[in-house]
Amino acid sequence: MNTWLKKDLKYIWHPYTQMAHCRKFPPILIEKAKGIKLFDAEGRWYYDTISSWWCNVHGHNHPAIKKAIKNQLDCLEHVLFSGFTHRPAIQLSEKLISLAPGRLTKVFFSDNGSTSVEIALKLSFQYWRNIGNTAKTRFISLDRGYHGDTVGTMSVSGVDLFNKLFQPLLFSGYKVPTPYCYRCPMGKERASCVVDCIKPLEKLLTEKSKKICGMILEPMVLGAGGMIVYPKEYLARAASLCKKFNVHLILDEVATGFGRTGKMFACEHAGNLTPDFLCLSKGITAGYLPFGATLTTDEVYRAFCDEHDSQKTFYHGHTYTANPLACAAALASLEVFEKNRVLDKVNQVIPFFHNRLQGFRELPLVGDVRQLGLIGALELVENKKTKKALDSGKRLGYKIYEQGLKKRLVLRPMGNIIYFFLPLCVKKSELHDILKRSYRVIEAQGIKI
Ligand SMILES: *Cc1c(COP(=O)(O)O)cnc(C)c1O
Repeated sequence: MNTWLKKDLKYIWHPYTQMAHCRKFPPILIEKAKGIKLFDAEGRWYYDTISSWWCNVHGHNHPAIKKAIKNQLDCLEHVLFSGFTHRPAIQLSEKLISLAPGRLTKVFFSDNGSTSVEIALKLSFQYWRNIGNTAKTRFISLDRGYHGDTVGTMSVSGVDLFNKLFQPLLFSGYKVPTPYCYRCPMGKERASCVVDCIKPLEKLLTEKSKKICGMILEPMVLGAGGMIVYPKEYLARAASLCKKFNVHLILDEVATGFGRTGKMFACEHAGNLTPDFLCLSKGITAGYLPFGATLTTDEVYRAFCDEHDSQKTFYHGHTYTANPLACAAALASLEVFEKNRVLDKVNQVIPFFHNRLQGFRELPLVGDVRQLGLIGALELVENKKTKKALDSGKRLGYKIYEQGLKKRLVLRPMGNIIYFFLPLCVKKSELHDILKRSYRVIEAQGIKI
């Protein structure tokens, strides 16, 4: 083993990683990256098919973003954000508000996706207190949703492998069935779908809205829940139910934001929604620096404005809130979107991606193919007729990941889901190559079982 890797294993504890397993399968030492490619220390390269954990947008080593960060570094690397401010944060707020859906007019900065969600939950909770409503204390979320790994965000995420153990620490709330079409919670076929799965939400709100602060969900695609793409009608109806029952709509666009689904924000697929909170992170800096932002409305903001001793202040902040380098990277990324007409270009690639993914349906292992924008997922099953899940003991997902690496792919599985989460810079020729290689890897595993 390479001496760097020996030291890595000696000192480092990696996330989501069984470290006992790491001795046999050490991490890959990446030395540099460019565009969609990662280069390791031994001279091999890999397609960054999942955008370095769903955050890279315009590709690695992008000249405009690097330059913006370097320029900012020459002026100001960081300053406290209470009692002080700086131009990059002001410019970025203005820009984000101009792009954001509905009537979002205020930005609260932080430094990662989980904090952007925690802030939305705390703001929503305190909003109701500040206007004198103390009955509202709970949140609704989807039973396969994912909103982060901190204790608050785990509380509004699905109960699964990640957070089952921590259940006693979590605050209680209400879960509604996920609109998971392949395994329809209402037991319907897709052809006869009238989005009946909204009914449990409607019933819950009818009975309990007086106790509910808000509903949080990932618009259009549940990421860590298994790249579950759901009907835009569900989102539109959930949004109007929230309005009808006086419950905040909290949209978590941490993964779906910044063009990944073919629109700047995924909620735009469902028409003109007016969320009360929008949580942003991951792609906000194009994947260059950690950052988060929570957008909200004037109505929420005003409920916090009062005298010092009114107890209405939002006492929350993070040391690296609104870090100027991150703001500069985010601004540069948004400029690239405009100057290079990134969304127009992406929308020329998406139909090709969609069509080519459908070809995976013929593989014996592939039960479902899901896609929106540059997000695509294959759900592997034991039996396509009965949709019986693969036996997790076979670790087929992991085998595909290993074989994928040999074919220059990062097919990091989530259970039985193999997915693509491509950077917006991906070219048609690269996409063609990625899908061709992926098909071969999955085909070969199918023969072995
Ligand atoms: C990744 C993710 C988060 C958490 O973001 P971190 O930066 O990893 O804390 C929250 N919500 C969604 C939808 C995500 O995909």
